[in-house]
Amino acid sequence: MSGLGYRLAAVQAGVADAAREAGREASEITTIVVTKFHPASLVRELAAHGVRDVGENRHQEAQAKAAELAELGLNWHFIGQLQSKKAKQVRAYAAAIHSIDRPALVDALRSDEASIDCFVQVNLTDDPGRGGVAPEALDELVERVLGTPGLSLRGLMAVAPLDEPARPAFARVRELSERVARLAPDARDLSMGMSHDFRDAILEGATHLRIGSAITGNRPAAG
Ligand SMILES: *Cc1c(COP(=O)(O)O)cnc(C)c1O
Repeated sequence: MSGLGYRLAAVQAGVADAAREAGREASEITTIVVTKFHPASLVRELAAHGVRDVGENRHQEAQAKAAELAELGLNWHFIGQLQSKKAKQVRAYAAAIHSIDRPALVDALRSDEASIDCFVQVNLTDDPGRGGVAPEALDELVERVLGTPGLSLRGLMAVAPLDEPARPAFARVRELSERVARLAPDARDLSMGMSHDFRDAILEGATHLRIGSAITGNRPAAG
């Protein structure tokens, strides 16, 4: 097996272990392999290993790869900060957008076409540059998503802060998710957990993991 195949299998085993530890079914957890900065050939290799869900954080790169690999029928997850003027273009190839973080982006995604799955990203730090909506403004943004045609709210997304343990941070997301469920009972998914903290995320209820380097190896330098 290739290095990629081994790393993928190791992460899948880690996901299964954490699910067992949490008393959950591994089948209820979707592992999105984050392929940013890697060439389309790597995504093709992942698909050959059975990967169906891939994540990208830059529109131009994602659009190009999705077009090149269209015949594979993969689910492309957009996980990066998104400019409003690019929103409509992302709708065209993405299965889900994980980074809804402000009202202007919600408005830009309004559409009469089939709904796209989306997650509202919560900022767990005090630094607005880290992306995501502040918890105080969460309910209002969720209500805006719910009132916007063309968007299907799945739940919340978050990135653990760098300067504190991941597990209590993920527990905060789970608590916020209870609040969201009062507004949208079906929006209970949690997109959280990366290469170094996916076990903690699974223990706190993650349904969508976004795992890059643990599977792909180190990323090439940004182009
Ligand atoms: C790059 C990225 C990931 C994956 O990070 P790894 O540490 O490589 O697993 C997950 N989520 C977001 C938002 C990212 O930008």
